Amino acid sequence: MSDTHLHPVPIYVDGEWRQSTTTGWQPVVDPTSAETIATVPLCSKSEVERAVSAAHRAFLQWRNTPVSERARVMLAYQHLLKAHQSEIAAILASETGKVMADAMGDVWRGIEVVEHATAVAPMMMGEHLENVAAEIDSYSLIQPLGVCVGITPFNFPAMIPLWMFPLAVACGNGFVLKPSERVPLTAVKLIELFYQAGAPQDIVQLVHGGVAQAQCLYEHPDVKAVSFVGSVDGAQSIYRGASQALKRVQALGGAKNHLVVMPDANKEEVINAIVGASVGAAGQRCMAISVVVWVGKSAEWIADVVAKMAEVKPGLSEENAAFGPLISAQSKQRVCELIASGIEAGAECLLDGREFVHPTRPKGFWLAPTIFDKVTPEMAIYQQEIFGPVLLNMRAENLPAAMALINANPCGNGTSIFTSSGQSARQFQHGIEVGQVGINVPIPVPLPFFSFTGWKKSFYGDLHIYGKQAVRFYTETKTVTSRWFDDENDDEGDVNMTIQLR
Ligand code: NAD
Repeated sequence: MSDTHLHPVPIYVDGEWRQSTTTGWQPVVDPTSAETIATVPLCSKSEVERAVSAAHRAFLQWRNTPVSERARVMLAYQHLLKAHQSEIAAILASETGKVMADAMGDVWRGIEVVEHATAVAPMMMGEHLENVAAEIDSYSLIQPLGVCVGITPFNFPAMIPLWMFPLAVACGNGFVLKPSERVPLTAVKLIELFYQAGAPQDIVQLVHGGVAQAQCLYEHPDVKAVSFVGSVDGAQSIYRGASQALKRVQALGGAKNHLVVMPDANKEEVINAIVGASVGAAGQRCMAISVVVWVGKSAEWIADVVAKMAEVKPGLSEENAAFGPLISAQSKQRVCELIASGIEAGAECLLDGREFVHPTRPKGFWLAPTIFDKVTPEMAIYQQEIFGPVLLNMRAENLPAAMALINANPCGNGTSIFTSSGQSARQFQHGIEVGQVGINVPIPVPLPFFSFTGWKKSFYGDLHIYGKQAVRFYTETKTVTSRWFDDENDDEGDVNMTIQLR
């Protein structure tokens, strides 16, 4: 263990937990206090390559392990994750600043995917058809790919890695995880527990770093598939780079999610939903509601949202706060600059959270809820993903106008409509060009038996993450056409019998 770095974060490479020998390190910062809590290595190229080689060797054994044994590892892992949920959530909270309720939810949504991975056997079943031609049968085998890679963002340090490696490994693959360099600690705990659950040595490797390490991974010849979740820029860059390297890619990008309120909606439900869905987790969710589109007279309720939001304060778990700080000083500065640009561009700032200072942690990256009205599509606050506790209000004369606004937005991760009209809901679900739609549900994140299906700039690829689509992403189909001869008794009688059977 190195003395020169504060709490150096370990890597799991080639059979054991070890300290990286790289020369590049960066601090892991507690966003509530701005204090450094650990130091993360930016792994060297040789460490990343060693990780891929080790995962590949493990894969060559693991691919022959019966599927029920692979599923049993997931059962044990699910059990361990549940038993350690609070411990993982506390680690996660220490590096993200999330309040415990959010941190527990982050882990829980990951556990649900591990539960889904226990059902890998039926999801890997192929098809069989006999007599595709005379005495010839055809069937498909679903087989793992090899080494798959996961590159994950800061905002869900448990859930998003768990979207990836359990299903990939349950399918028989090896895996290399590179979590966000800003939140590497949760991943260490997740992988420790995976090995405790009985995962075979080396089947998952853990390396740390940023863009260079991600690139080294997806360019490695033994890597067959790349799962990425992060910003639009990151998704585009990975999709281009990994495709260029001829890899299978699923790249989930950023978002700008709209919630439409119809005048016939339930007012109380609408207001509660907007407050939780917009500023929960400090707005640092890819499915956070960023824009409310008020149709017709429903806009009269904006004042009620402002009043309710003014009561919501960021802070620490022990203060029963609604949400924590932003992830970094840079992130806070970026969001504050966007808020300033909104005011300058003429949007009406109904609530300004920039002056909030936490009483005991004044150096943290805090921002209280901020609300804009009279936002127009050309403003930077509308065009960019803010990723902070900032809510924009826009108005539309009718549902088609609201839908046209949303459909013109380049992102298509999530959207929602609040209405008591089945006809409006159906018109919305049919015509909206967004991959995940809520009807009186503000954050419509699908459970793992479905897939997480962002569209447009929010997703590059074809097979989506988790669910049955992920099993197809992490496997290859082999189609067998088979005919058997009866060599020993290949006489006239057999031929005649075959003819009769026809
Ligand atoms: P980010 O794009 O900065 O980083 C994500 C990961 O990719 C990190 O591990 C980072 O090291 C790596 N990375 C970044 N740029 C890269 C590049 N050019 N090449 C290779 N690797 C690269 O994202 P972030 O700030 O950590 O996370 C927040 C973003 O993620 C937001 O935009 C949010 O909407 C998005 N997000 C999307 C989803 C979704 O499901 N669509 C889910 C969660 C977060």
